[in-house]
Amino acid sequence: MADVTSTALLLLGRGTDPASERGVDCPGDLPAPSDPDLVARATAAKAALGDRVFVLGHHYQRDEVIQFADVTGDSFRLAQQAAARPDAEFIVFCGVHFMAESADILTTPDQKVILPDLAAGCSMADMAVLGQVETAWERFEDLGIIAPTRGGKPQNESIGNDVVPVTYMNSSADIKGFVGRNNGVVCTSSNAKRALTWSFERGSKVFFLPDQHLGRNTAVLEMGFDLDDCVLYDPHKPGGGLTDQQLRDARMILWRGHCSVHGRFTLDSVREVRERVPGVNVLVHPECRHEVVNAADQVGSTEYIIKALDAAPAGSAWAIGTELNLVRRLALAHPDKQVMFLDRTVCYCSTMNRIDLPHLVWALEELVAGRVPNQITVDEDTARNARVALDQMLALP
Ligand code: SF4
Repeated sequence: MADVTSTALLLLGRGTDPASERGVDCPGDLPAPSDPDLVARATAAKAALGDRVFVLGHHYQRDEVIQFADVTGDSFRLAQQAAARPDAEFIVFCGVHFMAESADILTTPDQKVILPDLAAGCSMADMAVLGQVETAWERFEDLGIIAPTRGGKPQNESIGNDVVPVTYMNSSADIKGFVGRNNGVVCTSSNAKRALTWSFERGSKVFFLPDQHLGRNTAVLEMGFDLDDCVLYDPHKPGGGLTDQQLRDARMILWRGHCSVHGRFTLDSVREVRERVPGVNVLVHPECRHEVVNAADQVGSTEYIIKALDAAPAGSAWAIGTELNLVRRLALAHPDKQVMFLDRTVCYCSTMNRIDLPHLVWALEELVAGRVPNQITVDEDTARNARVALDQMLALP
């Protein structure tokens, strides 16, 4: 009988081996599409549809998909672009579910928004579920920290101690509808400061959904709040894990949500790249953790990152903390600069990458055949409320 040597099992999720749990080295080489005809098929299907179809490609999408996008951008720019094409019968959204919902909200009832793979969700958006958010809101009402104009019960100190809900674009239509219903506003990573400024002119507290990091980073680094002004509402703990006094004292009530990609960059990532590349500029997205943003040289939205690289002098070195597909494209677009990914072990956004060329070809060919696959629709009531919060964002001073 062969000698059997037992190997200790490293169970994922148990904190047994934090290094291996963060994944293996991810150099960023995706396999080529298995079918060499896919490019020709996508080209033919798109040509057959002509102006009837408009393809949107988020910056984090794969190259094999981005090559077929009529326009690229971040989630808000893409929703705006969809709204600017009322003649396009079909909007094929190469991005994730909440983005397709926003496009449906902003387009006409006759237009159909299609997500090539329904499994392309967003873990951050999924961290805030309407029922959980309403439970939190009821707690604020019971505590008397929501003004009657926002649906709270009239209590002594309620006015002037009002909670304004703000949701990041990266949230479901349900959450945007909730925020619109309660006189709040949607924000993007580019206008979060303006959205918070507007909100603090209307109340003394902000209830920020669903990305704790964007909320904290904006409040502390751009608005001058202390970390102590921010509390974290955990929907999985009774009462959010906060005492009445903590809620009364807080200025920013942050929802316990985060991006599964940006949340993985660490202070060690920053230290390591600074040691390895002297003089490197560390540029990160505000969805990164507070300590990472604090240690970086610059912080900004996806569009900010793209512009910063465009403006950077030849020969400069940049370590970028955002999604890998975008960083790889930036590196290819700037061969005169040293552009690298901030961390060797953080990988692609797995849900963004669900949209691949086979799914895009399938969606386009279905449309050519007269069938509408994977249509994303938002019910009219939710859409109307969500539009209130989106319109408020567009009206921000
Ligand atoms: S990168 Fe983060 S926020 Fe964007 S879709 Fe992926 S999980 Fe969601």
